[in-house]
Amino acid sequence: MTYSPSAHEQDPTQGYRGVLQRIQEAEAACRREPGSVQLLAVSKTRSADEIRALAELGQVQFGENYLQEALGKIADLQALKLSWHFIGRIQSNKTRSIAEQFDWVHSVASLKHATRLNEQRPGGLPPLNVCLQVNTSGEASKDGHEPETLTELLPAYQALENLRIRGLMTIPAPLRPGDDPRQPFRRLRALRDRLRTPALPLETLSMGMSDDLEAAVCEGATLVRVGTAIFGPRQYNK
Ligand SMILES: *Cc1c(COP(=O)(O)O)cnc(C)c1O
Repeated sequence: MTYSPSAHEQDPTQGYRGVLQRIQEAEAACRREPGSVQLLAVSKTRSADEIRALAELGQVQFGENYLQEALGKIADLQALKLSWHFIGRIQSNKTRSIAEQFDWVHSVASLKHATRLNEQRPGGLPPLNVCLQVNTSGEASKDGHEPETLTELLPAYQALENLRIRGLMTIPAPLRPGDDPRQPFRRLRALRDRLRTPALPLETLSMGMSDDLEAAVCEGATLVRVGTAIFGPRQYNK
């Protein structure tokens, strides 16, 4: 099937190639192993056809924020065997569908939500891959765990046997003039290095988006979450 964009869409091929190249260049500039950074294509507000166009180019991992919207696309694209990552704010009454339909969740910010996801993960599926969201911006943000709370919480997360704790995720607060764009990413990596153990290597650092992926790659990102730079600006009121 060939992809022909409708009026409000643009063909994502060029944007996609551009982002892959930015990742490659950042890996080289910061002496990261080539191919050590994965791209999560953030497809919120995008159509199933736009996702299909990227899948035809070999993209497998897609990130979604809004559950209702995501469920429709997951059903439509089932035959493609894509990997679906939930990256939006979690609401308690929505955890069941997340546990049933997604492969990864990046935005786990409370043990209560994790406990529900663990109970609701269907037995026939592999464990749900989880990143714990961390607030790396101090007072400027309320999203995610406060870093100093994680040492105490980790054993409880680890005990949830239908979840696999893969690493940490952060969304920095908007930068103010004079801020170092790399600082939140450096904080997340340092925290991961403090928390990791042989039994819990926390190998995933989910950090970096369209505007700051280079900074994140230089600080050790293993997965960048990119929407706008692939698909163009989002339109929320279609
Ligand atoms: C929307 C979103 C992204 C992608 O942001 P862009 O600036 O469009 O690349 C990444 N991570 C999260 C959690 C998001 O909600």
